[in-house]
Amino acid sequence: MKYLPLPPGAGDGVIMRQCRKPGWALRQARWLASAATYQRFHGNPWRILPAGFTGADADALFGLYDSRGGSGPIARIRRPAIPYQSCPMCGSLGGRSLDHALPRSRFPEFSILHENLVPACTMCNTDEKGGTYRGIRRPERFIHPYYDRWASRALWRIEFGPDLDALQFKAVSLPTLSRLRRHIVDFHVQTLLGKEWRDSVRREWGPLPANLRRRVGAAPSVDEMRAELEIRLNDAIACYGDNCWDAGFLRGVLADPAVVAKLILRVQALPG
Ligand SMILES: [Zn+2]
Repeated sequence: MKYLPLPPGAGDGVIMRQCRKPGWALRQARWLASAATYQRFHGNPWRILPAGFTGADADALFGLYDSRGGSGPIARIRRPAIPYQSCPMCGSLGGRSLDHALPRSRFPEFSILHENLVPACTMCNTDEKGGTYRGIRRPERFIHPYYDRWASRALWRIEFGPDLDALQFKAVSLPTLSRLRRHIVDFHVQTLLGKEWRDSVRREWGPLPANLRRRVGAAPSVDEMRAELEIRLNDAIACYGDNCWDAGFLRGVLADPAVVAKLILRVQALPG
């Protein structure tokens, strides 16, 4: 969840070059028209329909990514010289891969369009989306890192359920966003943040009291506890960005007085 500048090589050049190769010229007009639609509507899956390539045309377009993805400009989108602090799609610290914002299985014409290739972690690219590219109702879609400039600030947090011993929680948009953006962010985080994320929250929650106690002592006040959590939140943002998993977790803790109170109780209950 992060705004990124368009990668070098975005635009029609990639199509024009390919269409100079033998057997490709007949695809050019339709291919360029579909790319223009993508650029005009900023990759919005509610505004863009598949171009309708079928059979050998669809297979050839789909396969371009396999032959081009390992080297050259596409590899540089996947592995930029300066790595991102956290996954631009989901905020994890997972390995680097490349995600098709609109899946090439359904939109083979965007297989190597640089605007459609978003650096993302391996989890985003494989597990969580599972071919999903939009929700059931408008405007549910994923945040597009190249076009959603508003994604450059904090977007989400955890919302804890009432039973903190059972530790139920979900990812939600921040109430400071507009209604439209909240719909998009809710869809984005609730679709992309899956099992790996839930496991990471549990791993963070369990040892947190012991971890906090070393900083705040055995009987912290609410203000002392909040101050320590805010330091941690600011550290997480500085190291990994506004929307990394740690930042979403700590914003969620700070947003809920019952969670802060529970942490204080757990710190007090620690032996020794
Ligand atoms: Zn990711």
